[in-house]
Amino acid sequence: MSESLLQSWQRKNAQSTVENRDIVKRLKRKKGKQLDQLADEVHNEVFSKIDCLDCAGCCSGIPPIVTKADVTRISKTFGMKPAEFEAQYLTVDEDGDTVMNTTPCPFLLEDRKCMIYDIRPKACRQFPHTNDLDFSKNMKLHAMNATICPGVFHILRRLDAVMG
Ligand code: SF4
Ligand code: SF4
Repeated sequence: MSESLLQSWQRKNAQSTVENRDIVKRLKRKKGKQLDQLADEVHNEVFSKIDCLDCAGCCSGIPPIVTKADVTRISKTFGMKPAEFEAQYLTVDEDGDTVMNTTPCPFLLEDRKCMIYDIRPKACRQFPHTNDLDFSKNMKLHAMNATICPGVFHILRRLDAVMG
C-alpha cells in the first residue's frame, strides 16, 4: 500500500526544518503572481489528498488569532457576553495578539472535529495561507507551518520541484 501524504510528512518532518527554510528562501526569489497562482493549484491538489480530521495539527499546536469580530460572532452563539468569552477562552500572546488560551484549542473535540466549525475564527478558516492567491504574502510563515502542517510541507516541496 502506498504511503499517504500524512504518513510521509510524519516520517520526514523531524529532519526537515533546515530543508523547509531553504525551500522558502528559493521560492522567495520567485515572488509574484505566477507563484501565487501555482501555489493555489498545488494547495487544491495536496488538500484533495489530506483529510484534516486525520491530523488536527494546527488546532493542537498553534493558538489561532481571534479578532473582535470573531469574539462577537462566537460569544453571541454561546449566549455569552463578549467580555465573558474573552475571560474564559482568550489570552494575549508575546506578539500582542489575542489568541485562544490553550493548545490544543479549547474547541477541539476528541474526534478532532471543531466544536465551533461554522463560526470558527477567521484565522482558522484561512490557515495555512497557501491558497487564495496570498501565498507570497506569507513566506515567513510557510517554513514554520510546514513543521505543523503536512499540507504546507508537501506544497513547499511541489512548488520547489517546479519553480525552485
Ligand atoms: S476554533 Fe476550531 S478550527 Fe480553530 S483552532 Fe479551535 S478547534 Fe481548530
Ligand atoms: S495542520 Fe494542515 S493538514 Fe493538519 S488539520 Fe491543520 S490545515 Fe489540515
